[in-house]
Amino acid sequence: MIQLDQLTKVYGHGAGATTVLDHLDFEIAAGEIFAVVGPSGAGKSTLAQTVSLLERPTSGRVVVNGADLTALGERELRAARRRIGTIFQSDGLFSRRTAAQNVALPLEFLGVTPGERRTRVAELLERVGLSAKAGHYPHQLSGGQRQRVGIARALALRPSVLLADEATSGLDPASTASIVGLLKELRDELGLSILFITHEMDTVVQLADAVARLDHGRIAESGRLLDLLRDP
Ligand code: ADP
Ligand code: ADP
Repeated sequence: MIQLDQLTKVYGHGAGATTVLDHLDFEIAAGEIFAVVGPSGAGKSTLAQTVSLLERPTSGRVVVNGADLTALGERELRAARRRIGTIFQSDGLFSRRTAAQNVALPLEFLGVTPGERRTRVAELLERVGLSAKAGHYPHQLSGGQRQRVGIARALALRPSVLLADEATSGLDPASTASIVGLLKELRDELGLSILFITHEMDTVVQLADAVARLDHGRIAESGRLLDLLRDP
């Protein structure tokens, strides 16, 4: 599970200071999809950067399975980042590597042996329904399939949290639906805590267990999805 504890990000100093994330406080249990929605400028990208530990918060904590990741030094932080898998709007695949080679990349960095790598890559591609496309290059895949490869790559490090930053934005409705279906499977079968950040309310309705609406860096409202829909 992941907890944000009074997470705050301020850019600049003194009179020029801008509070972009203002004491955000929520937790995502294992096996739960939590969506953060909000308009442009609400602070969504900054939230994604801070949760993925690419940006340090100004104050507050990101806690994963009880460990405060914000208290770590650079070296420990690199290791801790592996607990949080990230998928972005752009799939970020290497165009000159096949689907399998893209998924294998984080395992290569970790020094996983070639034999073990082959097994793990095959399992990961199977999990995202792309076993038949292992040898395909990104340009030979649809947008939805590329995003599945990105998800397989994110899962390679066996994270307990998956951060999806506008992961379905720009996909057609059918591809979006297939990614939504896959994320729900990962929630249910792997017990991942999934933070799904988007400006697309339509998609949130399809997958979130709970939702927070972000506005000017603050949670304007939050709750179980059904409650929010019932009482808009
Ligand atoms: P969103 O992703 O919801 O569009 P952002 O996180 O990109 O929101 O931005 C939220 C606010 O933070 C915006 O007002 C933006 O101008 C400001 N902001 C983002 N990054 C920086 C930065 N590095 N320095 C100063 N202000 C920033
Ligand atoms: P290279 O010549 O760079 O080793 P490969 O395609 O043989 O390229 O392998 C790159 C990585 O992808 C390796 O870790 C390999 O185990 C994995 N890999 C390649 N093809 C498959 C496949 N069909 N199923 C599972 N893993 C694969």
